[in-house]
Amino acid sequence: MLEPLKLTIQKSGRLFNQTADILKKCSFHLEYVDRSFRHVFKDFPLEILLVRDDDIPSLVHRGACDVGIVGLNEVKEFAASFTDFTESNQPEQNCQQTQGHRLHYECHLGFSRCRLSLAVPVEAEYHDLKWFSQKKIATSYPACLEEFMAKQGVEIQVVPISGSVETMPAMGVADGICDLVATGSSLVQHKLKEVATVFHSEAVMVSAREQLDPEKLKLLDLFCGRVKGVLKAQSSKYVMMNAPRVKLNRIMKLIPGLRKPTVMPLYSGELTFSDIHELKNTDDYVAVHAVATEPVFWSTIEALKNLGASSILVVPIEKIID
Ligand code: ATP
Ligand code: ZN
Repeated sequence: MLEPLKLTIQKSGRLFNQTADILKKCSFHLEYVDRSFRHVFKDFPLEILLVRDDDIPSLVHRGACDVGIVGLNEVKEFAASFTDFTESNQPEQNCQQTQGHRLHYECHLGFSRCRLSLAVPVEAEYHDLKWFSQKKIATSYPACLEEFMAKQGVEIQVVPISGSVETMPAMGVADGICDLVATGSSLVQHKLKEVATVFHSEAVMVSAREQLDPEKLKLLDLFCGRVKGVLKAQSSKYVMMNAPRVKLNRIMKLIPGLRKPTVMPLYSGELTFSDIHELKNTDDYVAVHAVATEPVFWSTIEALKNLGASSILVVPIEKIID
C-alpha cells in the first residue's frame, strides 16, 4: 500500500484557521480537530498531524513528517540554532540546510504576516543599534537575535523568554525586547517603540523534498500543485465587461496583472431593449473576459467605467491550474 504524505500543521493558534481554509479548498477537510491530532483522507494518501508550531521545522527536518506549514520565523529560529546551517536571502531559490539535511521552501502562503523586531521603552533615547550594546534583550528568538546582533557587531545579553516578552522591560527583567510584531498595538500597550526589524515573516510551506523517495515526491508535487492552485486563485479575480472597441487598449492596461484576455463580439441578433438603449451600436462594443492576478480595487472599476466599460463583473476564482 502507498505510504501517505505526512503533513504537519499547527494544532491551534494564529496559523490554524487560514491553514485549514487552504486545505479545505484543496479538498482536505479537517473535522473533529479538538479530538484528534491525526487526520487521514480517503481519496488522497495524505496524513495530517497537528502539533505546536515550534516543533514543525524539526519534525520535517528529522524526516518524521514530509512537509509542514509554519511561520518563516520558526524556520529561521530552528535554522539559526544550528551552527552549520546556511541560508540565502531568497528562500524560494534555496534551502535551509545542515550537513546532509535540508528544509526546502515550497512556497510562501501569504498569511500571518509579521516581523521580528527590536523594541525599547518609549522614553529611551534611541539613535541606533549601539543603544543595545551590553543591554539585556528578552526574546523567544534567541538564536535569530544573536545572529543578527553578531552581524551588526553589537554585543548583547540575550534573555530567553517563552511568552509575554513585551512585559519584561516593565518587570525589570530586560532593557529591550526582540519579538514578533504585526500591527504594533501590543507594543503601544506596553509603552514600547519599535526601532529595528530583524526580518519579515509569513506562513511558508517547507518540505524534506531531497530526502523523499520517488513515490513520496510524486505525492508532494501533487499536494503542492493543489496548494499553489488555491493560492493563485485566492489572489486572482475573473473580470468580465462590455467595452468600447476603440478604448480596448486603454482598458486592458487598467486590468491589474492581466493574463491573456478573451475578446469576443457581442451577440447582435436579438437584442433586448436595454442592450440597445445602453450600447446604441453594439458593433462598437466587445465582450472582454480576463483573469486579473492582482486585487481589483473600486478605483480600477470606476476608471473602467469612465472609459465606457459597462456590465462589469468581478468574480472570485476557486482554482487555477496552469
Ligand atoms: P503554539 O501553541 O502552536 O506553540 P504559539 O502561541 O507559539 O502557538 P501563535 O501565537 O499561534 O503561536 O503564532 C503562530 C505564528 O503566527 C507565529 O509563529 C507567527 O508566524 C505568526 N504571527 C502573525 N502575527 C503574529 C503576531 N502579532 N504575534 C505573534 N505571531 C504572529
Ligand atoms: Zn509556538
